[in-house]
Amino acid sequence: MQTAGTLSMGDKMEKATDARVLAQRTAEIRARMSKAAITAGRQPQEIFLCAVCKGQQSDVIRQSTELPLDFFGENRVQEFLTHKEANAYGGKSCHFIGHLQTNKVKKVVGQVSLIQSVSSLRLLHAIAKEAAGQKLVQDILLELNIADEPDKTGASKGDLPMLLEAAAGLKAVRVRGLMTIPPATTSSRENRRSFSMLRALLESAKKQVGKDMPLDVLSMGMTDSFEEAILEGATIVRIGRGIYGDRK
Ligand SMILES: *Cc1c(COP(=O)(O)O)cnc(C)c1O
Repeated sequence: MQTAGTLSMGDKMEKATDARVLAQRTAEIRARMSKAAITAGRQPQEIFLCAVCKGQQSDVIRQSTELPLDFFGENRVQEFLTHKEANAYGGKSCHFIGHLQTNKVKKVVGQVSLIQSVSSLRLLHAIAKEAAGQKLVQDILLELNIADEPDKTGASKGDLPMLLEAAAGLKAVRVRGLMTIPPATTSSRENRRSFSMLRALLESAKKQVGKDMPLDVLSMGMTDSFEEAILEGATIVRIGRGIYGDRK
């Protein structure tokens, strides 16, 4: 018969291994990020690591607050609320990176430092209204579906000027830049083409809005593509599997 004592010792050993594995993976990601930055002639410090903790338990997230990551990224409102309730993020901030329904906006506005996934006029207005009600300014990114993939979230490129114009008139939101999830591919060349497209869109957005809106964030690149993204100008890479391992 197993006693409670041996069970908890087993638990502890497993946690210690987990922590070591998380630390090793994160160190490796950081090293590769730095290398890509240097290759691109950029400063490693100007690129932020967003740890995508979807599907993870609160205690795994709490463990990872010790790691050299800059903030967490959540793509489900309910998971975000659960982890926040459990104080899983420690002193680190969290970004919302998933599809956000307008009826859940109030659970996220003012609670995350950046909403990366604003993809429609309707959502933009809903966020602005909620932020105004809370008397704060919510930082956001506009998410673009750069290859116009039918089943994907993100606004179409053609809507970008309209979204920027709308945002310019909303005092309670501040657009900081752009985000994309590129088409799934293993081709590093195709990834680079996608990322350079997002970067070009950011440049044209800057021209449109002038100095009033500081557009300096490009969130692009995931576990299998972050080096290409850094070479093309990413300022945030969003890494899930590379830190936490494959999702079940
Ligand atoms: C899951 C997810 C990621 C991370 O993907 P990995 O391949 O696990 O690194 C990044 N961005 C968004 C929006 C995601 O949903």
